[in-house]
Amino acid sequence: MEFILASGNQHKAQEFDELFDSKIIKIIPAPKSIDIIEDGTNYYENALKKAKGYYDIFKTPVMSDDSGVDVEALPGELGIYSARFGGEKISFPERIELLLEKMRTFSGQERRASFTCVLCFYQNPDEIYYFTGKIRGLLDTRSRGDQGFGYDPVFIPDELMEKDLTYAMAPDWKKDNSHRAKACKKAQDFFSQTHCQSKKSTI
Ligand code: IMP
Repeated sequence: MEFILASGNQHKAQEFDELFDSKIIKIIPAPKSIDIIEDGTNYYENALKKAKGYYDIFKTPVMSDDSGVDVEALPGELGIYSARFGGEKISFPERIELLLEKMRTFSGQERRASFTCVLCFYQNPDEIYYFTGKIRGLLDTRSRGDQGFGYDPVFIPDELMEKDLTYAMAPDWKKDNSHRAKACKKAQDFFSQTHCQSKKSTI
């Protein structure tokens, strides 16, 4: 099945394309980028807004994603607002500095955090599917690692706790195991089964 990505980001389209087996799910860039106001109250609403916005214009199946990091000690401050934490005008290193500063007095399990990715596959208004991937871990006390993007240098997944590695220090692990990879795996399993069933029904 082919889906356009509800994002103008070519890099993102390629990243998603690499996470899927193209015989099952093929992600292609949208013909042009559309401005969508992300004013939903959760990841699902924002993912739906993006997918529907693109579907209404291009009338072809769309995949959208919405993701973010939730920090237990700062409820409602990041999550769906992760990209804008601290305001629109500051850089990502400044955003991370602000987060580390706000978390300065928290230690151990008080630094629990999780990454969530919600994928929305909008085939048409009657067939809309969501897949979620979540990874739990701790916020580091300093920025470490130079790979990845966003909050990668300050997030230590539970699975990498013993090795004491952030997402930004373990790009190969992240590629296969991240919140995004988990959601993609669920979607791929679902669509491979749907594909088999529709194939069977034509026999
Ligand atoms: P988006 O909605 O997927 O573009 O992501 C929203 C924001 O969440 C991004 O700007 C990042 O701040 C954060 N984020 C989402 N996924 C990741 C990730 O894999 N690593 C680091 N930050 C992420």
